[in-house]
Amino acid sequence: MKIEILSITPNAEKLIEEAGRTAYQSFDKITDDSASKFIRRLIKMGHESVLEHAIASFHISNVSRTFSHQLVRHRLASFTQKSQRYYRESEFKYVEPESIKNNESAHAIFKSIMEYCNVGYNSLKDLGLKNEDCRFCLPEATQTELVITTNFREWRHIIKLRTDKAAQWEIRNVCTEILKILKEKAPSCFEDL
Ligand SMILES: Cc1cc2nc3c(=O)[nH]c(=O)nc-3n(C[C@H](O)[C@H](O)[C@H](O)COP(=O)(O)OP(=O)(O)OC[C@H]3O[C@@H](n4cnc5c(N)ncnc54)[C@H](O)[C@@H]3O)c2cc1C
Repeated sequence: MKIEILSITPNAEKLIEEAGRTAYQSFDKITDDSASKFIRRLIKMGHESVLEHAIASFHISNVSRTFSHQLVRHRLASFTQKSQRYYRESEFKYVEPESIKNNESAHAIFKSIMEYCNVGYNSLKDLGLKNEDCRFCLPEATQTELVITTNFREWRHIIKLRTDKAAQWEIRNVCTEILKILKEKAPSCFEDL
């Protein structure tokens, strides 16, 4: 798994404070360090729509299509994912869960199935079939990459759901990394998570 932040609203906390204070007309209370306390209060009150003014984009790679299928269920986010129609997966890479990697017999079975999928894909390509149909041979373990953009309110929602122990390990690991980055960039908006 590889996570890279591509973009984040500049001065995000200041922007959120400015927007939030528009509601209360309390601009006179703005100081160099007033944003942090103000944002914490907004979050405590559940006035989270104000967090929608700031957005962050991440490039996520070396993850499985099992993971991406879970992530794209978050409808308020925007996604662009590597295409299996335009990109030929002749030497497809895959993600192997630790539980399989650490079990010799399971690893052997898994590896041979991945090789079999690869042979299937390339045999169909050799017959002249299009990528879009050959990909039906590929497993959910197939590596993918995507860019996701969404606002801070939706990031908080995704992170809450997907870092919970009920979530699967891969999406949990990705969202834990994203949370670490967001906590560095905009601590007041994410420190309670
Ligand atoms: C541990 C776990 C297990 C899961 N298991 C399954 C499963 O077995 N099968 C399955 O199909 N899915 C499963 N999901 C996916 C889950 O059902 C949601 O589709 C996914 O988490 C997206 O959440 P969301 O709808 O809250 O969020 P988002 O799509 O990110 O939306 C954010 C919020 O906006 C609001 N919203 C968005 N769209 C609408 C709308 N149309 N109408 C009203 N309000 C809206 C809601 O308040 C929503 O919470 C699982 C999720 C988790 C975390």
